[in-house]
Amino acid sequence: MSGEPILLIEDNAANAALILFLLTEGGYDVRVAVDARAALTELENFRPWLILMDVQLPGMDGLELTRRLKADDRTREICIVALTAYAMKGDAQRARDAGCDDYITKPIDTRTFPGVVKTHLRRRVAAIRGTTEKEVEPDSAPMDPSARLRDGSARRG
Ligand code: MN
Repeated sequence: MSGEPILLIEDNAANAALILFLLTEGGYDVRVAVDARAALTELENFRPWLILMDVQLPGMDGLELTRRLKADDRTREICIVALTAYAMKGDAQRARDAGCDDYITKPIDTRTFPGVVKTHLRRRVAAIRGTTEKEVEPDSAPMDPSARLRDGSARRG
């Protein structure tokens, strides 16, 4: 299990529960915020690699929150995937214009959703390592220092 940190911002309880279930199945470290204010509070101490951002939120909407996060040096690097309503045709473009890296249409397709999340986390890992996306194996275990030591001593001996 991977344990990558993900922040889900979603005010719809049923949708949040479904996404939380899928992410928990994936073994991620997930926090949930019900609006922009709660999200900003969460971000004071939590550094997600990926934010799943509902567009329609009470108070500040997901697009305005995205613009804020992308304008802030501390949060600019976080990948933001908008959760847009399928019926709202303009949402995808508005999400991109606001700085979202991608979007997923609701209702969530439980079959394809885990793959989309994995893809974005893999991009993030690739960016950190300064490598291309294809070079990163998403399911690889973290490097085991003792294994490296064993390899080293084997070569030396
Ligand atoms: Mn909503």
